[in-house]
Amino acid sequence: MKISAYAAAAAKVPLAPHAIERREPGPHEVLIDIRYCGVCHSDLHQVRDEWGGSIFPMVPGHEIVGHVAKVGAHVARFKVGDTVGVGCFIDSCRECEQCKTGEEQFCEQGMTGTYNAYERGTQTPTYGGYSTRITVNEDYVLRVPESIPLDRAAPLLCAGITTYSPLRHYGLKKGDKLAVVGLGGLGHMAVKFGRAMGAEVTVLSTSESKREAALELGAHAFAVMRDKEDFKALSKRFDFIIDSVSAPHDYNAYLSLLKTDGIMVLLGIPERPVPLAAGSLVTQRRKLGGSMIGGIRETQEMLDFCAEHGIASDIELIDIADINEAYERMLKGDVRYRFVIDTTTLPEPA
Ligand code: NAP
Ligand code: ZN
Ligand code: ZN
Repeated sequence: MKISAYAAAAAKVPLAPHAIERREPGPHEVLIDIRYCGVCHSDLHQVRDEWGGSIFPMVPGHEIVGHVAKVGAHVARFKVGDTVGVGCFIDSCRECEQCKTGEEQFCEQGMTGTYNAYERGTQTPTYGGYSTRITVNEDYVLRVPESIPLDRAAPLLCAGITTYSPLRHYGLKKGDKLAVVGLGGLGHMAVKFGRAMGAEVTVLSTSESKREAALELGAHAFAVMRDKEDFKALSKRFDFIIDSVSAPHDYNAYLSLLKTDGIMVLLGIPERPVPLAAGSLVTQRRKLGGSMIGGIRETQEMLDFCAEHGIASDIELIDIADINEAYERMLKGDVRYRFVIDTTTLPEPA
């Protein structure tokens, strides 16, 4: 079936209307009517080919929520009308150790990205959620609890799981002093999860204008990090740092804010590498880790945790026609805190 989408025809050109094909659901697949799709900074990195290897035309979008429109003959977990979500990947090998333990994002043969990838074993590109429908194998579809407002649920499929998973995996404890670096789509979710898990949360931002909003979000403290003095003032203060910054920045400066044995987890993927001084870790037995989204089982756990704790993303709903402007605003940190596309504003396919 021909459906409506928005695509980038090449790196660094504006997104524009573009018709794509979606298949009828196979025996184990569901067809989803997409209602909302979040706008992740990773969309922008890939549309602008900042990580290299981007596939064009590209229909971005991996924070997808909507309703099941059709199910294949053998689909067991979903029925027409169910409220569902799709995150950053739509398939994996299912056989490797990572897939078997529910860490499909680390599939040894590579997960199949929701967009900017190829369907497994084919040369058919995958297209993401800046579109009206998507066909996905039921094993890679999440159930979205009805109590979460659907537009505010969309960003949970990437920003939500990306911040929930490392807090769990690296073991944030009640009472820990947690610093969240960068108050964007990921950062604001880290604040909410950190609070819900009982941490004392400080936002470290480059934007003085976000101070009040950060405290309203639930942060206990807020600091603007500009110069050496700002870093000195918070030296060895934190047990845990979540770094969600999208641009190159000095990791060593932030590591100096960790206590002995503290851990900093990198989530942001800037386009250029940044030098790391061994002394930043060695001197206080600090740890530096990374994390990438989360597996299907943990993503479901995160959605259920959100429902239980009344957590949803803070969003600005946009029309698809505003997407290019939204990218520019995201680059300036001018969004509280996630743009979400209302997919009913996609034009009819020509
Ligand atoms: P975002 O909404 O644009 O937020 C990024 C924040 O970083 C900004 O709001 C800003 O916060 C801060 N920032 C930007 N430029 C900065 C600079 N030069 N120095 C210091 N701080 C700066 O982006 P996002 O969607 O949250 O994504 C953040 C990063 O995570 C991106 O690189 C994205 O690709 C990556 N990501 C990774 C995963 C994963 O699985 N690991 C998943 C999703 C996204 P302040 O205004 O508060 O300073
Ligand atoms: Zn994302
Ligand atoms: Zn695998």
